[in-house]
Parts: sequence; structure tokens; C-alpha cells
Amino acid sequence: MNKVRKPAPQLEGLIPYDPKYLPAEAFLSANENPSDVDAEVRELIARAIAKVPFNRYPDPLANKLRDLIAEANGLDRGCVLLGNGGDELLFDLALAWGGPGRTFLNLPPTFSVYAANARLTNTTVVDVARRDDFSIDEEAVLARVAEGDIDFVIVTSPNNPTGEQARPEFIAKLLAATDALVMVDEAYFEFSRATVRPLLADHQNLVILRTFSKAFSLAGVRLGYILANPGVIDEFLKVRQPYSVDAVSQAIGEVVFENRARFEPGIRQIIEERGRVMEALRTTGGVTPFPSDSNWILFRMEDAGAAWEYLYEHGVLVRDFSSAPLLENCLRATIGTPEQNDLFIRTLRDFVAKRREAQAAQSLGA
Ligand code: PMP
Repeated sequence: MNKVRKPAPQLEGLIPYDPKYLPAEAFLSANENPSDVDAEVRELIARAIAKVPFNRYPDPLANKLRDLIAEANGLDRGCVLLGNGGDELLFDLALAWGGPGRTFLNLPPTFSVYAANARLTNTTVVDVARRDDFSIDEEAVLARVAEGDIDFVIVTSPNNPTGEQARPEFIAKLLAATDALVMVDEAYFEFSRATVRPLLADHQNLVILRTFSKAFSLAGVRLGYILANPGVIDEFLKVRQPYSVDAVSQAIGEVVFENRARFEPGIRQIIEERGRVMEALRTTGGVTPFPSDSNWILFRMEDAGAAWEYLYEHGVLVRDFSSAPLLENCLRATIGTPEQNDLFIRTLRDFVAKRREAQAAQSLGA
């Protein structure tokens, strides 16, 4: 038959995730590490991949990598699960703790994938919006979970795209106040140097999400992991794709994790550059940057849409949130290399200066 019946009703009106990638000299839109893995690590990776049997299925659970991560975190293997990027594990979370008749508490503005996964799985989404400064409305969250119907919550720390980490005291209070599963998304924790991992010992309802995509320069490889108590991991095992983490990714992940200390200088440079870019934004007229514990800075300015265009025309791609709900006139710039950051700041300042000249000319003419 040359026609097809409709797909599942929850797909109606759903727009596929679009990272809005465009080629640019300074690619500052995806919160990636600006440096690739170094030549020596690349050589080790090449040797490891040469030994991977391609005709065999991979270890479904990536146990070698699982053990490395468990040991580094002072946990048992049963407390770790790898996924095809953090994204897969976020989807697994919605499959395992969401569904019809189930409720997810979201703290927007935050990573849009959470709500999209909820919608796909017919999970009800309850929003507790952040305050004007993007801090979490802690009292409102605690009051909402006290109603007892929330099945899972995601607290992103540091929060994408706003930048600041959640207060650890708040996360501890939230974990104690509810039996909902609380995911703390620590995709960027290497840049905040803060983790709630110690809370795993006393909280069955905590799951921590991490990724190799940011600090470890492996966005192209697709590796993420969760840390949780074994009872929670067992539920994720029921919904995950059996072979989602391929053998090549496992081999790469093992080499990178064993050599993770080599990424430390790069992380330090990103943190230093973040301070420099923050100061430059603070001293650029009409631009209001929001504090960041991560590898990007969100900022608000008039005519943000026009600023985005101007930056792009001059080789700088940042992420445009200017018409996103709760993020009016906001742009997000990933911290790049010092040269990329210079180009970004110089171009943004050019835009501001040109706009002021145009306004001055207009008011003289009026
Ligand atoms: N959580 C947050 C907050 C993110 O920003 C991202 C990446 N954009 C992820 C999770 C998932 O990252 P990945 O799938 O690359 O591991």
C-alpha cells in the first residue's frame, strides 16, 4: 500500500532535536572541549582498536571500563552503567521511571532533551521554573515533591544552558524529602569540580549522570555513564539496548579513562579562560553574563538575535536561545581556545559598538 497509518500520537507536533550545527571558524555552540585527545593518547587508542575483534558482539556491559570507573569512584561494578552517550541513559531513565500515569519534575530552563524524552514516553511533565537569576526555586521544588506524585526529578549541576551548579545542601535535602528517583546530571562536573557522589552511600534514590563528551574530548565517540546503587542500575538494565556501547567505543573509553590525568591541564585552561571571557563580557556595554561553573557562559543582551547573526557572519558560532522560553535575548558561548575566545569577544564588541553608533546616528537624525 502506498500510504502509511499514523505513528504513535505522542509524536504529533514533536520536533526532532536539532543542535543547529553550522560550519564556523570558532565553533562555540556545543559545549565541546576545543582540544581533541593528544597525539600520544591517539596512538594508544589506535593500538587498542587494532586488537578489537569486529566480528564479535561487544561486552554488553563494557565491564572493563565499568570496573575502571567504579574503582576511581570508590564503588563496586554494580553501581556503574555505561551508555551510548549520556543521551541514551537519559532516555533509559524516562523509560524506566516514566510512562503513562507517571510524572517527571523538570526545572526549566534546562537541557531540552529531558522534557522531550518525557513526552515520547507519555510521561506527565511538571515544571518548577527557575528564578530570574536561574537559581533553583528550592522551596517550590520541595513543596512540589511533598505532594507525593513525582516519580523522577532531574537536577542539572552545572545547569545547561544557564551555567551554575545546584547547591549540594539542596540536593541532600531533596533526596531526604522524597522517594522519587533524583538524577543529578553532572555532565559538566569536571568544570565545577563538585560532585554529589558521596551522597550515594545513604540515598537509594540518587543517580548521577556523567559523560566522556566534554572534559574528555570524546563527543564524537558517544560514551556516558551513570553511578547509582545496584537496585537502580538493575532497573536501567531492563530497558537499555543490549549492545549500545560498541567495542570500539569501549576500547577508546578504556584508554582515555586510564589516561584521564592528561586531560587535566586542558580542563584547567578552560576554567581559566572562563574567568577571562566572563570579565570581558562583564565589561562589554549592554551585555549581562550569568555566573558559570561550566565550560560556557550564558549572556543576555539587547538584539541578541542580530548579535548571533553578526557573530556567525564573522566566523563565530554560538548557541542562540534568544527566542527560547525563559531565555529571552540570551546567547550561550562555549569556552574555546584562547584565540577563539579572543575572536568571539572582539566580534561581539564590534557588534555592540556598531549598534551604538547606529543608535547615536538615529537619535541625532530624530
Ligand atoms: N546532560 C547535559 C546537561 C548535556 O548538556 C548533555 C550534552 N549536550 C548531555 C547530558 C548528554 O551528553 P552526551 O550524550 O554527549 O554524553
